Amino acid sequence: MFDLIIDFLFPRFCIGCGKYGTDLCKKCYRELSIAEQICPECGIESSMGWTHPKCQKKIGMDGLIAIYDYQDKTIRGLIDGIKFDFNKGLIKAMLKYFRFETGIEFDFLVPIPLHYYRENWRGFNQAEEIARVIEKGMKVPTKRILIRERKTKQQSLMGSRKEREENIRGAFEIREEDKKLLLEKRVLLIDDVFTSGADMRECTRVLKKAGVEMVWGLALAH
Ligand SMILES: [Zn+2]
Ligand SMILES: [Zn+2]
Repeated sequence: MFDLIIDFLFPRFCIGCGKYGTDLCKKCYRELSIAEQICPECGIESSMGWTHPKCQKKIGMDGLIAIYDYQDKTIRGLIDGIKFDFNKGLIKAMLKYFRFETGIEFDFLVPIPLHYYRENWRGFNQAEEIARVIEKGMKVPTKRILIRERKTKQQSLMGSRKEREENIRGAFEIREEDKKLLLEKRVLLIDDVFTSGADMRECTRVLKKAGVEMVWGLALAH
């Protein structure tokens, strides 16, 4: 009954093909393009998403799991639906048949924080919502260890990689009460899209300086 009412008030249409009654139909789900795995430090293809040996740094990322290909129009539509329509159901729809077996035992999932004014306006951080879906499958707890400190310009308006990295430098801090939790821990950072990767690399830098041993990222798409 409840479903029926929701459907009546907000009719749902498949984001891929427009079919009535669902956010993502089975056919479109099967056709979603899976991402090629890349090295999170240089952005070039890398098997299983491991950071290339030549790109490894003490305070750099150890690897990245990117699930879908952001060039796929349906994927973009789904991610926009999560971000701008706050449709949490789309996260579940995208991850429905995934089993997260990573071979690495992570201690925490850590969502990349939004700046507080954006999160307040929406009351919704899509990275955290993604973590909440994944934590169930992985049986690893989500911890909001990071906070976003100062206002940064919209990344999409910035130019080179160097400019993006300078813009984001110092933007994240660790919650005081969580600092003691981090020594030799393994963290999986969660975000919706990995584009330049500047946010994830900066979060990694902050976490590793605080004693975290290993940092991987997981993004719905890149
Ligand atoms: Zn469809
Ligand atoms: Zn690399």
